[in-house]
Amino acid sequence: MLPLPPFEYHAPRTLPEALRILRDHPGDAMPMAGGTDLLPNLKHGLYGARHVVGLRGLEELRGVRERPDGSLALGALTSIAEISRHPLVRARLPSLAAAASQVAGPQLREMGTLGGNLCLDTRCVYINQTHFWRQALGYCLKKDGTVCHVVQGGQRCVAAASNDTAPALWSLGARVRLASAAGERELPLRELYVADGVRNSVRREDEILVEAIVPPLPEGLRAGFSKLRMRAAIDFPALSVAVALFAPAGKVERLSLVVSALAARPHEVRGLERLTGRPWGPELLREAGELAQRQCHPLTNINVDPEWRRAVLPAYVRKAFESAGALPGKSP
Ligand SMILES: Cc1cc2nc3c(=O)[nH]c(=O)nc-3n(C[C@H](O)[C@H](O)[C@H](O)COP(=O)(O)OP(=O)(O)OC[C@H]3O[C@@H](n4cnc5c(N)ncnc54)[C@H](O)[C@@H]3O)c2cc1C
Ligand code: SF4
Repeated sequence: MLPLPPFEYHAPRTLPEALRILRDHPGDAMPMAGGTDLLPNLKHGLYGARHVVGLRGLEELRGVRERPDGSLALGALTSIAEISRHPLVRARLPSLAAAASQVAGPQLREMGTLGGNLCLDTRCVYINQTHFWRQALGYCLKKDGTVCHVVQGGQRCVAAASNDTAPALWSLGARVRLASAAGERELPLRELYVADGVRNSVRREDEILVEAIVPPLPEGLRAGFSKLRMRAAIDFPALSVAVALFAPAGKVERLSLVVSALAARPHEVRGLERLTGRPWGPELLREAGELAQRQCHPLTNINVDPEWRRAVLPAYVRKAFESAGALPGKSP
């Protein structure tokens, strides 16, 4: 069993208290929600933080609520299990419910939270290893080293964004609210992530993600999710695909397609606007799958053959539309 490194554990009861602790230990404190990712990573020696700020006492960050403008606010401390079974999420954001229901396994979904999922560190077969293992390989860019083992000569870490709720929320146009001792800011989820696997988020170390907000969606919008993983009962994604389609009277008005588990940032498929105005049918489904395949290049950052992942991508695009009840020719 790997031991945890020593750290001071803080258990604030309010958000301002938690934010003050982060402010008072710049670069040396990390928030912890469910701990399902943070604790293994600490054991692997991936972080040097000497202060861990437990968020579980912050009741104000828990729960799903409808706001007066019809948007849904999803508290960062809401468990992944709760997100997957909440009636409002299942009725209005089915792709998010589907993504949450496929995160890890049942125990991890009870402990893991939405905020922890959205702030999940990137993953790579060369980094999620013991210190001894990484040392034997001479480390890598993401921690303690100067080279990347995935992209030879690469200057940027391409560890994979592996959080399943991110592509679902992204495809629905979600925003996130971040708070620090200095104030609050809100930004589109798509702007939270950057293409650098060392730290793939613009969230500052003194900020806590408070909630995700999904704007009101048009009646009839169909949202679906599909995921490739080796063991359906527990594994991280080898591909995750989220789609959102609004095609009233059969004609595409809005279509978004976000693919993740490729590199450090989820990828929003470009060029889908050229499909708008056309009737939703098998031809468009094929074009969407082809566009995704052309733009997505899985890497050896995951222990699943990248060529195979790329080859099956159109099938997973199709599965995502199927999960949305939007396969052409099939009534939902
Ligand atoms: C075996 C196994 C399988 C897994 N499979 C999957 C999977 O299939 N899909 C998937 O998406 N995940 C998977 N996970 C990862 C993890 O369990 C989930 O992503 C979970 O939702 C993380 O939430 P948490 O609350 O436990 O995060 P934590 O471990 O508490 O935190 C994760 C990171 O987010 C930061 N953080 C947490 N909350 C906040 C906040 N509110 N504001 C700012 N920063 C915050 C922490 O500092 C840390 O850096 C798996 C984990 C394991 C161990
Ligand atoms: S992608 Fe490269 S730099 Fe990043 S964790 Fe993997 S081996 Fe390290």
